[in-house]
Amino acid sequence: MAKITLDNLAHSYNPRPQSEDDFALKELNHVWNDGEAYALLGSSGCGKSTLLNIISGLLVPSQGRILFNDVDVTEKPTAERNIAQVFQFPVVYDTMTVRGNLAFPLKNRGADAAYIADRVQKIAHMIGMEAVLDRKAQGLTADAKQKISLGRGMVREDVNALLFDEPLTVIDPHMKWELRTQLKSLHHEFGHTMIYVTHDQTEALTFADKVVVMYDGRVVQIGTPQELFERPAHTFVGYFIGSPGMNLMDAQVEGTTAYVNGATIPLGHGYSKLDGKVQIGVRPEFARLSDSEGLPVKVRRVEDVGRHKIVRAEFFGSDINIIAGESDRITSDMTRVVFDPSRVNVYANSWRVSGEAA
Ligand code: ADP
Ligand code: MG
Repeated sequence: MAKITLDNLAHSYNPRPQSEDDFALKELNHVWNDGEAYALLGSSGCGKSTLLNIISGLLVPSQGRILFNDVDVTEKPTAERNIAQVFQFPVVYDTMTVRGNLAFPLKNRGADAAYIADRVQKIAHMIGMEAVLDRKAQGLTADAKQKISLGRGMVREDVNALLFDEPLTVIDPHMKWELRTQLKSLHHEFGHTMIYVTHDQTEALTFADKVVVMYDGRVVQIGTPQELFERPAHTFVGYFIGSPGMNLMDAQVEGTTAYVNGATIPLGHGYSKLDGKVQIGVRPEFARLSDSEGLPVKVRRVEDVGRHKIVRAEFFGSDINIIAGESDRITSDMTRVVFDPSRVNVYANSWRVSGEAA
């Protein structure tokens, strides 16, 4: 297992990049702690696979270094990095049996036969393929082949890190949940450093101790699920995480007050003069409807989603979402909205400003 350090790392697929826009991965410094489980989360095209492939050695970065336990591996090929990587689509040896596929990484390393047999049995159990161990991989479904790929990724106990690149894409929803749980328990049992790439926030938040959120080639926040929820560092984190995501409004901010369309919104912190585009962000969980206090709002629709209700409303001509309790009654005289001041985040040019205690 290893601590992985990214030092001044950046990558452009263009051999002669002219500007920052030419970089699929903007400059990045980060340490992945030994034994932690990370999710790398972001929408398609934001640079997740680029980063993962640099860590595994499939790609040489155009700038910077990668260190495994403080040893520079930037120029080392994948085979010398001692990592396991599982991709979005299955990579299996069709002519081998399932057993042969699972045993392959161990045989390759010269492990002894009894250990291999035992380990293969364990992994087959985890991926639910004990019954088909002696079948050829050829002819199995894509979903079964992907389970073999996952199994092969997990079979070695001595790897520096386990890297997963959207590995559950072709797996059916029920099995997805099951495999994710297995991966988590594998992490608890062996304490591997794991990096799990996904564009699905539920997957990221349930799998990882820490979530690394990427947007447009940049890491915009690294935090626990709770930190991402309570203090989104960038407006992208605010609206990408949560369902629905954070409400964002253009505002002016002076001291402990925000002004939206001239209406005043009290803030939990004080701010000195802010430059650039100023916005406030409030999660739907921290807004509530009222019949007496707060600012005018027009309720458009109420969606009952079981655990709570999502109120879709209009606030000074813009859409706003409010989460109400499962048993809350929403009446026609509720024409006002109140924001919890301590939960209102302030952003300048998309980045969160922390403010001073009020
Ligand atoms: P993600 O995995 O988050 O979907 P990628 O890392 O695959 O994103 O891609 C990041 C950006 O780099 C995208 O704009 C993509 O089009 C570009 N890109 C990826 N691979 C290559 C490549 N081999 N050559 C040129 N551009 C690439
Ligand atoms: Mg990708």
